Amino acid sequence: MSHPPRLNLYDLTREQLRTQLVRWELSPVHAATVWNYLYLGLAESFSETAMPDLPAKVRTRLLAETTLGVLPTALETDSSDGFTRKYLLRLADQERIETVLMRFTGRVTACVSSQVGCAMGCVFCATGQMGYTRHLTPGEIVAQAVHVARALKLSALSAHHSAPAAHPPARLRNVVLMGMGEPLHNYDAVMQATDILRDEAGLALGAERITLSTVGVVPGILRLAQEKRPFHLAVSLHAATQAERAALVPAAKKWPLDELMAACRTYSESTGRKIFYEWTLIEGKNDSVETARAVGELLRGLPAQVNLIPLNPTSGYDGAPTHNAAAKAFQHILASEFKLPSTVRQRRGIDIAAGCGQLAVAEAGH
Ligand code: SAH
Ligand code: SF4
Repeated sequence: MSHPPRLNLYDLTREQLRTQLVRWELSPVHAATVWNYLYLGLAESFSETAMPDLPAKVRTRLLAETTLGVLPTALETDSSDGFTRKYLLRLADQERIETVLMRFTGRVTACVSSQVGCAMGCVFCATGQMGYTRHLTPGEIVAQAVHVARALKLSALSAHHSAPAAHPPARLRNVVLMGMGEPLHNYDAVMQATDILRDEAGLALGAERITLSTVGVVPGILRLAQEKRPFHLAVSLHAATQAERAALVPAAKKWPLDELMAACRTYSESTGRKIFYEWTLIEGKNDSVETARAVGELLRGLPAQVNLIPLNPTSGYDGAPTHNAAAKAFQHILASEFKLPSTVRQRRGIDIAAGCGQLAVAEAGH
């Protein structure tokens, strides 16, 4: 006989945790204690060592009816340049997801997954090549950020022992939903998770430090616009015409480029926010000077920044990354002819397959 799934504490907002304690006829004052252990102490269990000040009746109830939702590490890899650490985390049903800790220019960012696999099928993406398995729950999304916050805390503690005058401990401040999966295909769980991550009595992540990256799920973009959620929005564009885009991003057949651009315009008009347009640079496919001009025309008049990312090669796609000189030429056209700001993202951590979904593929192949 199968048991109903246990309540995952990371699924709950602070208010919901309080309500749950009341439902168990426990005093709501204990909710704050539990919450602090979860998000300030970053506790890994309900043990007396991990949560010393928990009243016995609360501990008993939590042990009997809930799970803490901590995700064990199946594999952990550091890039040779030391800027990226990638975790393959195991879910309760044995599925695996990727979470990446990135340290660039003094910023610490957690790149988290929103689904196991992805239904959108982008041809160059390792996650897309896997297909879709399931949505993540809010707690599974929250647990990834907690995992990174805990890793930072532990490394700060060990650095303190070896070198007391070392850098101040880095706190997790930025989260990007750019791991496995399409966040706007799992809208409600992602929003519940970001509500929990933003709680000022918890991890206290600023909304302006949370980035949602979408392949272009038009209803999701319009809903974000309507709800005026103050996140950063990144839209993965990759092509400037419908035909070229549909060949790379099959989801474009469902949400065509003109509808996507209309949704982006609505989003920017109603929120006053600029959108980051992601562009995976593939040699000979979408990296020509003419293509750069087409991007400039497409984004004309929109508050925009283009993030150019040379392709990370994957086993299921035979494209090659654009060389640096061509990436710079692309960037130059955007800047000089269209006054369009852009960045070329360094492919840090490429030696640990830090592209979306690539670690999970590598592990499955073992
Ligand atoms: N599903 C969302 C977020 C996850 S993918 C989205 O598509 O936006 C995050 C980013 O990584 C996207 O811009 C995606 O196009 C890019 N990406 C995926 N596979 C890649 C690869 N092999 N090389 C370079 N960028 C890749
Ligand atoms: Fe899904 Fe994003 Fe990968 Fe496309 S790039 S398959 S939307 S995870």
